[in-house]
Amino acid sequence: MNGSSDPDDSGDGGGALEIGRYTRPFWSALSEGDFLVHECRDCNRAFFPPAPVCPHCGATEVEWVEASGEAELYSFTRQHTAPPGFDAPVLLGLVELAEGPRVLCAIEGEYGDLELGQAVELVATEYDEGFDRGDLSGEAFFAARPVHDRSE
Ligand SMILES: [Zn+2]
Repeated sequence: MNGSSDPDDSGDGGGALEIGRYTRPFWSALSEGDFLVHECRDCNRAFFPPAPVCPHCGATEVEWVEASGEAELYSFTRQHTAPPGFDAPVLLGLVELAEGPRVLCAIEGEYGDLELGQAVELVATEYDEGFDRGDLSGEAFFAARPVHDRSE
């Protein structure tokens, strides 16, 4: 379990959060139901996906912070050709976290029921069995789920 050399590119990740040493804390937290984003110590803005440099101001002092998981559906689409590990059709959405960053992920729900701007929450999910995720076998993935009664 030590000294692994992560492959730089596993092929057609296509915007997915890469699996590597840098993002390991994200996956570890997710397996416990927590969703981590990065926050810049300089401009105090949160961002995702995590990277060692703040995309807003270029500062390199960034740290992991736990997001609330609360989000709004910013955009969504239905894809009839599903990526490996998903059943077609798959609903994909861009959700805007309460903390600011927009995250691309699968949306759980019925296409016809989704509305732009509706409240969603990030949830830890699992891939279908039989899909080889390599290093992440058995670890959680994530999706967004509509929140039908958010009482504030
Ligand atoms: Zn910054």
